[in-house]
Amino acid sequence: MTFTRPIWAEISRVKLAQNYRSLRALAGPDAEMTAVIKANAYGHGLAECARILSAEGAAGFGVTCVEEAVELRGVCPDVRILALSGLWPGEADTVVEHRLTPSVWTTTHLDLLREAARRRRMGRGTIPVHLEIDTGMSRQGVSIADLPALLARFGPVSGLRIEAVMTHFHSPQNPEAAAQQMRVFAQAVEQLVAAGLRPRFLSAGSSADVLEQTSAAVTHLAQRVGARRMLRTGLALYGYAPDGKMSSLLQPVLAWKTRVTSLSWIERGTTVGYGATFNAARQTRLALLPVGYADGFSRLLSNRGWVLVRGQRAPVAGRVSMDQIVVDVTEIEGVAPGDEVVLIGEQGSERNTAQQIADLTGTIAYEVLCAIGPRVPRVMVE
Ligand SMILES: *Cc1c(COP(=O)(O)O)cnc(C)c1O
Repeated sequence: MTFTRPIWAEISRVKLAQNYRSLRALAGPDAEMTAVIKANAYGHGLAECARILSAEGAAGFGVTCVEEAVELRGVCPDVRILALSGLWPGEADTVVEHRLTPSVWTTTHLDLLREAARRRRMGRGTIPVHLEIDTGMSRQGVSIADLPALLARFGPVSGLRIEAVMTHFHSPQNPEAAAQQMRVFAQAVEQLVAAGLRPRFLSAGSSADVLEQTSAAVTHLAQRVGARRMLRTGLALYGYAPDGKMSSLLQPVLAWKTRVTSLSWIERGTTVGYGATFNAARQTRLALLPVGYADGFSRLLSNRGWVLVRGQRAPVAGRVSMDQIVVDVTEIEGVAPGDEVVLIGEQGSERNTAQQIADLTGTIAYEVLCAIGPRVPRVMVE
């Protein structure tokens, strides 16, 4: 499909590369850093972001699922590709063929992989897996109670090798919560070591842990058992911090733009859009823009959000439609059809961020970025 409607997202190569370098330096030389590019690189475009990050030296990537992993393998033949949400029946052969590294935490995962290894007469320990421990997130992961039964399946004839033990912190900004999870994680690691299994990595910590350099406990535990620490960094790569504050260390990578379709004047008392929720208090100049909730511009921005036109803020007038919005440009001189409009990004001295949109719509920058739809082409810029 070629796109000719004027709506696009610009992805800055330079900013992505700089964010990666800053985070890499913060993580320190002893830590292995997995660049998390799941969900189409948080909406930024999987293949292009992977190329840029691997040119910067990224040796490992985290994606959502086997499908994304296969797409990534086509771009990066030699990197570690971690499929963060395990695997489903029918995917084990693909995992082996494409040399993927799935996270695993159920006996079903192990059985699927062992059968694939047996079918291919693969030798002992040839399929790397990252064993996920549930230390309090209650999402993915094996509980401490069920761990012994799972470990028993990694016997001498198993084709599987535990390359990493991983866990995920639910409140990385809260040191007590992280310490509580670390205690459970340490118990799990002790069990592995006692069973003679020697993971190469202890994988714990995301963007928040890199930015705030928390949970040194993971590093200590790794040293104690002769493993390296692995960090899995997602959001910060794209220029945002998980705590909702803008970090001076990072630069937003994505700018989202469109153009003015047409302009009109409405008289005082005239309403705008579905439900007539905007009622002009004066004679009002309106600009129509070809972006709507089907593109990922949240309907919660109705009468609340703003965009940048000629370097100034133009508020959204009325409800966001599926494919269009109307903005109030009465205060802005000289707006013309075809003018570039910034939905996320900078124009003149004004800036609109995914975080500001998240604050207005009661969500997080992650969701604002991921919501930008597939019909918005991603264009690489410097
Ligand atoms: C998404 C995800 C990450 C990355 O988190 P960020 O907050 O974006 O850095 C790390 N680990 C797991 C398991 C994830 O699902």
